[in-house]
Amino acid sequence: MEDCVFCRIIKGVAPASIVYKDEKVVAIMDIRPVNPGHVLIIPKVHAAQLSELEEETGAHMFKVAMRIVEALRHSNIKCEGVNLFLADGEAAFQDVFHVHLHVIPRFRGDGFEIKVGPHYGLKMDRKELDVIAEKIREAMR
Ligand SMILES: [Zn+2]
Repeated sequence: MEDCVFCRIIKGVAPASIVYKDEKVVAIMDIRPVNPGHVLIIPKVHAAQLSELEEETGAHMFKVAMRIVEALRHSNIKCEGVNLFLADGEAAFQDVFHVHLHVIPRFRGDGFEIKVGPHYGLKMDRKELDVIAEKIREAMR
């Protein structure tokens, strides 16, 4: 897609600091990192959301993320922990509509936080959980 920044990076017509690439994915440095070492794993095929992406490519993205986590932990980049983050849809903070998986090195006191809603921490009733589980099972069939 012409107007997609990640497609332009994959085509080589937009600049990026490439960490890794193979036949399915490319991994680049995020230009607005949460912390230094923040990497984005991007499928080479344009898919706006996970539902448009082949399962195998999604699995490969995760495999590459695991390798990058391992590399971060063995580098001298400050990394006491790692968050993997994928925003699927605008309501989930997706900003670039080409699937991407964030690999974010973390350390104590880095200031990054996930703010949760008012219902977080309230234990849900087992019956409600079972109803929701059934809805998901049903949708998976
Ligand atoms: Zn794209």
